[in-house]
Amino acid sequence: MKLLRIRLAAATCTALLFVLVSSMTAPAQEPAGDKVDLQALSEIKSEAFQHSHVMENLYYLSEVYGPRITNSRNHHAAAEWAMQQMKAWGLQNVHLEKWGPFGYGWQIKKFYGALDTPAYAALIGFPLAWTPGTNGPVTADAVLAPLHSKDDFAKYKGKLKGKIVLIFDPRELSLHTTPDAHRLTDEEIQARINGGPGGPGGGRPPAAAPQPGQYTPSSLSTAAPSGRILRNEVNTFLKEEGVLVALTPGYNGDGGTIFASYGGSQDPKDPVGPPMAAITPEQYNRICRLLQHGTAPKLTFDIQTEYQKDDLMGFNVIGEIPGTTKPDEVVMVGGHFDSWQGGTGATDNGTGSSVALEAVRILATLHKPMARTVRVALWGGEEEGLYGSIAYVQQHFAPRDTMKKTPEYDKLDAYFNDDGGSGRFRGVSATSPEMVAIFKSWIEPIKDQHIVAVSGGGAFRPTAQPGGTDSTSFSWIGLNGIGFQQDGLEYGTRTHHSNMDLYDRVQKDDVEQGSMIEAWFAYNAATRADMLPRIPTPEPLTK
Ligand SMILES: [Zn+2]
Repeated sequence: MKLLRIRLAAATCTALLFVLVSSMTAPAQEPAGDKVDLQALSEIKSEAFQHSHVMENLYYLSEVYGPRITNSRNHHAAAEWAMQQMKAWGLQNVHLEKWGPFGYGWQIKKFYGALDTPAYAALIGFPLAWTPGTNGPVTADAVLAPLHSKDDFAKYKGKLKGKIVLIFDPRELSLHTTPDAHRLTDEEIQARINGGPGGPGGGRPPAAAPQPGQYTPSSLSTAAPSGRILRNEVNTFLKEEGVLVALTPGYNGDGGTIFASYGGSQDPKDPVGPPMAAITPEQYNRICRLLQHGTAPKLTFDIQTEYQKDDLMGFNVIGEIPGTTKPDEVVMVGGHFDSWQGGTGATDNGTGSSVALEAVRILATLHKPMARTVRVALWGGEEEGLYGSIAYVQQHFAPRDTMKKTPEYDKLDAYFNDDGGSGRFRGVSATSPEMVAIFKSWIEPIKDQHIVAVSGGGAFRPTAQPGGTDSTSFSWIGLNGIGFQQDGLEYGTRTHHSNMDLYDRVQKDDVEQGSMIEAWFAYNAATRADMLPRIPTPEPLTK
């Protein structure tokens, strides 16, 4: 740490000296950065703000085809729709790129849940992903059997057969005394850029780190390998015990909002447990209180889910605007196309997908010559572990273990990612000091659009492990994977992996702003004289 500071200080001194010397010998140097094309900017803005398709894109991706669980029928149908749009806008080389195998697709066909006695109440909830249905309506006694770790299995052995089991403790709920959403001030976005909370994903709260072996609603939901181990243990136990339906209160949310995702597994080799559903914590707690009072609640569930088993390969959706003079050099924009199942995947990541589609539509519609190819990529399998982008970067550019570069490696200029929900773009993360200067010159004429910050001054190096979102798959192999910092809005409080991830939670002005900025960034990258500077290439892991 200390060493780094000394080095940085030395670098700053050298730079200062250089500036002093050069200012004595030559006229003042122009600040580093690009001269931007303001005419192009005004055309991009007018297309983005007067003729926007972004909410129409979002309508189809969320209202018609949502939710889009990886490999589900909806996900495939949404991809077909996106390819049709790309072709209609004049994009070339529009296709699906397969990777994998990923595993089964999965989709909800029916969910009914109710408290029958002591009084009827319809339950708000949804099935956990990759869990089976009930095979018709089932009614049974509820049992509270909170599982905190494997050690609890013995306690409940032989007691859960034919029961509807609440597998976690009741959730403690507190009064909301802070707003669900707020817009970052310029000072807050600057602080965040300088190492404050919130990475390229914007307002996303840091994922709760589950303790190894500890069972909680959030550790059951995590896509990390620890989550898979836990789900397999829990599902095997519940299945062996003959549990009819397992219930959870979700890992976050209240007031009708439930955050939950995984329950089973897309991998055909993993055990399949009983039907599982998340219900609102207030209703979950009510059932717990009835049990604690000895009131013997009875519940009914009728759940149908569908596993899509015919094609286990995952896919990404790709389309291009070919470059005019350097078509083999490529600027990419995109985001993940898949979602979780509770809502329609409107903000995660219908918005990032709609914005990327709108950015390329704007550029295709303007017909302004761009030297480099602009390619849009809509990734699959992000939610389960960034599978689509990890496969793509290794197929196209370099396998991470050998780092044997393909000819495409040196031609990938940058990838711009949007996966931070509905909030407008407030900052952008640069990956080298030169890039900071370049991005500052790109945002200078659009500061009235509330994008005010460029990250910089940190250690610019490849990402050790991809995580969080798809831009990290690029930086993992030494490519420019660039994210925008966004206003978090309700991403963490209401929409991220919840049943309320719906169209109405998307702010139209925000996604129009994002589309304009993404188009502007792609245009600048595709038309500037040189490719953007690079982070260092990481060492191979194997020789
Ligand atoms: Zn996402």
